[in-house]
Amino acid sequence: MPELSGIGIGRGIAAGPVARMSPPPPAPADEASELSPEAETDRVKEALSEVAGELEERGRAVGGTARDVLEAQAMMAQDPSLADAVQTRLQAGKTGEFAVHEAFAEFRATLEQLGGYLGERAADLSDVAQRVIASLRGLPAPGVPDPGHPFILVAEDLAPADTALLDLDKVQALVTIQGGPTSHTAILAREKSITAIVGVADAAELTEDEQIIVDSVAGIVYTQPSAEQIRDAQARRTAREEEAAAPLTPGTLADGTAVPLLANLGSASSTDQAVELGAEGVGLFRTEFLFLSADEAPSVEEQREAYQKVLQAFPGQKVVVRALDAGADKPLSFLNDQPEENPALGLRGLRALMANEQILKDQLTALAQAQENTEADVWVMAPMVSTVEEAEEFTALAKQHGLQIAGVMVEVPSIALMADELMSRTDFASIGTNDLTQYTMAADRLLGSVASLQDPWHPAVLRLIRQVGAAGIASAKPVGVCGEAAADPLLAVVLVGLGVNTLSMSPAALADVRAELKLHTLEQARSIAAAALTAATAAQARESALSVAQQS
Ligand code: PEP
Ligand code: MG
Repeated sequence: MPELSGIGIGRGIAAGPVARMSPPPPAPADEASELSPEAETDRVKEALSEVAGELEERGRAVGGTARDVLEAQAMMAQDPSLADAVQTRLQAGKTGEFAVHEAFAEFRATLEQLGGYLGERAADLSDVAQRVIASLRGLPAPGVPDPGHPFILVAEDLAPADTALLDLDKVQALVTIQGGPTSHTAILAREKSITAIVGVADAAELTEDEQIIVDSVAGIVYTQPSAEQIRDAQARRTAREEEAAAPLTPGTLADGTAVPLLANLGSASSTDQAVELGAEGVGLFRTEFLFLSADEAPSVEEQREAYQKVLQAFPGQKVVVRALDAGADKPLSFLNDQPEENPALGLRGLRALMANEQILKDQLTALAQAQENTEADVWVMAPMVSTVEEAEEFTALAKQHGLQIAGVMVEVPSIALMADELMSRTDFASIGTNDLTQYTMAADRLLGSVASLQDPWHPAVLRLIRQVGAAGIASAKPVGVCGEAAADPLLAVVLVGLGVNTLSMSPAALADVRAELKLHTLEQARSIAAAALTAATAAQARESALSVAQQS
């Protein structure tokens, strides 16, 4: 069976026919129309209403938040001011395609200038324009196909807007040509438990309707499978579904070593899902997510209420609350509104909090009050810590406010390298592998063009984690991981082998990580980690870990 390889996400397997994502139509040229403006007007009107109708219909079929996105897009296709802007260009003798392209681009630029929520809708406008242009040219609509039966989606990569619309009853698996283990598609696949393999360079060869098997444990797409191989894949899929539905157990290795599995949360709305999926507490509560659209610092009372909602869901369990992590990918205007050339290297995280100490003190006060009112075991930690002085200062301040357990995130190589000195000055460390990878590899986590460097499997990142794990063991203080790396089942085993005691992840990833941990003893996890550490590249680290793991 010919094989294409890539990076498997999770532990899923799926078999089915390929449906490819249709590419956007090429941008139309600025040329005079051969038709009269009236004839062009009729064509454009028809295309706009066809696109609006399709979007509404898909919205009704998909439901949920995706429905809101699709309905908003349908309204864009029928917006009277956009229709006027198109009409002006048609009257000037342009083609329908070009008039739509230019008028929508002009509106897009205006939305982008407005920024905020409207700025974020700009990409939706381009998507609508491309749909209308495709319809005018008689081409299939760009984006996620709808062949009317279950399929395996093959794409160059998925845009966030596409992912919101995936109908998970139909999409059995994802295969993308681009992307690494922390790409947007990989994160989404983990969050929604979709079988996926990303970075399959040869997936361009897969043809429409061809039968394939996607095995994310092996990171292999099998083409031309036999009937027996398809039956095997289906049996493995059913077994995994049964495993996911089995009674939830705490995270443990094969030898009984406990590895508590915790949830990453950004609001109280996902607490129920975390509890249902067996989270043994919260390893990262991203408090800044509650205030992303606030212009002013939230009051103590407002914060107390918000924190209490999350804490209440975990009586007797650990909840690690992160102090506001403002800056770069999570801007909070009330903490830092100065434009910076390199925001990821700027006044962010704990640096911004120290520069606005009252905001930090208010947050610690609110958290201490919420702790008083609930039964949760509250731990607090600081984001983006670079020096041991910062760690010491934060830990002392948290304790002055009545929070008994205070620690720091290890997201910057400088603090990982100083881990031994760090551990004597704080209560615990939680490794944020998303930022730690970004800073170790000097690769912006938001930039697709350097996504291949954003790989927590890189031995440079693993060596830093080993240093923190060793410092944790030497000082008998807890070390957790709360970045995306913890949600990658095999990497989770490596992390445990490097000395990490707890793993925190999006709740949907818990089942796969729980299942993988059960397959290895602590000694085996250490051997798997050792194999990864001695590799020269991220890909080799993964391969070496996999080959040792398959012997466990
Ligand atoms: C991280 O950097 O790994 C992390 C967990 O924090 P965030 O992704 O919120 O920056
Ligand atoms: Mg971070």
